[in-house]
Amino acid sequence: MPHPSANLFDLIVARAGRPGQMALEAPDATALTYAGLFERSGRAANALVALGVKPGDRVAAQIEKSTDVIVLALACLRAGAALLPLNTAYTLAELEYFLSDAEPALTVCRPAALGAVRDLGRRLGLNAVESLGVARDGAFAERIAAEPAEFETIPRAAGDLAAILYTSGTTGRSKGAMLSHENLASNALTLIDVWRFTGGDRLIHALPVFHTHGLFVAVNVALLAGATMIWQNRFDPDAVIAAMPVATALMGVPTFYTRLLDHPGLTREACANMRVFISGSAPLLAETHAAWRARTGHAILERYGMTETNMITSNPYDGERRAGTVGFPLPGVGVRIADPETGAPVANGEIGVIEVRGPNVFGGYWRMPEKTAQEFRPDGFFITGDLGLIDADGYVHIVGRAKDLVISGGFNVYPKEVETVIDAIEGVLESAVIGLPHPDFGEGVSAVVAPRPGMTPTEAGVLAALEGQLAKFKTPKRVFFVDALPRNSMGKVQKALLRETYKDTFR
Ligand code: AMP
Repeated sequence: MPHPSANLFDLIVARAGRPGQMALEAPDATALTYAGLFERSGRAANALVALGVKPGDRVAAQIEKSTDVIVLALACLRAGAALLPLNTAYTLAELEYFLSDAEPALTVCRPAALGAVRDLGRRLGLNAVESLGVARDGAFAERIAAEPAEFETIPRAAGDLAAILYTSGTTGRSKGAMLSHENLASNALTLIDVWRFTGGDRLIHALPVFHTHGLFVAVNVALLAGATMIWQNRFDPDAVIAAMPVATALMGVPTFYTRLLDHPGLTREACANMRVFISGSAPLLAETHAAWRARTGHAILERYGMTETNMITSNPYDGERRAGTVGFPLPGVGVRIADPETGAPVANGEIGVIEVRGPNVFGGYWRMPEKTAQEFRPDGFFITGDLGLIDADGYVHIVGRAKDLVISGGFNVYPKEVETVIDAIEGVLESAVIGLPHPDFGEGVSAVVAPRPGMTPTEAGVLAALEGQLAKFKTPKRVFFVDALPRNSMGKVQKALLRETYKDTFR
């Protein structure tokens, strides 16, 4: 059926569940049926307009997770504004960068931060600052309550801006990835097909909602399938396990799965009603995949994507979900492996940089045309910066980030290859391989190891176990031990932090 406009909100309405069906199931009064969600988003859209938000404007939100984050996201779509969700961990100094870069027409913050953010806004000439709390408290919640529910959704073209998501910015300044209505809609519809989501699904939503995984993959798939989300404001293994008997799907980062494996309540019976467990945002250890399968009978379905491109590949729903791979390119998404320097395609099975083209790929970085141009090939492929290969069966493997590549004595060392060998050593839970400044070699390969609980591997022991397994230039010159690898909220190992911690090792 043709839609009056390409506004993602119209598509959500066209595909929604029954009005009385739960869209966001929550244990308290913030739960919303589909009818309730649409009504509240209309009130919130009226509030945005009353505050001066116009089509094309940005709305920044640094608020705790609650169902009202989704209300605000839908209200932005309806008002034709672009949502700019911000990690709640960002400090006021970081917020200053995002606000001065994006110049939002409205900033929504946590009630406790209202005074400080209003001061900041005044200093930057951004005077519209409202607060929104997790229990429908705060100035913006009051406005929502006071506005009428009817709102005529603003028509949007496919390429119009729907959201700006700032990348985590591990190198240099964080960049705002501009995502269009079509980017988000096309990707969610593809994922619904590939993962077989229907209106009968009940998705456990325990991810943060300032990131593409929780905000777009989970929410858009669920809403466009007319499914129900079991809404949890934070990840709590007890709560996830308690929800599983009445749920059908979970989307998580690898840390969810390792934390759930530590829980005695994770059993085959507890998972009996579950249809699919999906993992992404960071590499899932093959060992976690195997342990999950042994414990629950389910093969975790791993997929790969990034803020700029939405989802790129997925292991198959039917067919072999191969541990340690991220599966096949999604339908309609072009994936190729290229030489990082020249952009020329590499031979089958060779490692290179992963490049992507399709309706899922973003339009560019906010106010950074030169940076944007550098990251696209002339034929429109986006250079992800991830290094990978496509094996003989067509599965995509990720071997690390281009910027994590270690070059030691002129030789390329792919951290993942070394980590895989180290992880197989007795007493090792997991490892991170990094390059540290080295006077002779440029970079010296080094490993940071988290031991298994109760085990105490030593540097000499690890190095002895690596003898004969890896070429000399790939073998770590030093091995450090930590209780746990440092990870960000999406479960990514913070290699930049490790490089900083050990930077003087060889100097
Ligand atoms: P973000 O933009 O924060 O979602 O980060 C995207 C990056 O996360 C990608 O470029 C990859 O480096 C990494 N990533 C996402 N999913 C996976 C996965 N399944 N396996 C390995 N790395 C992943």
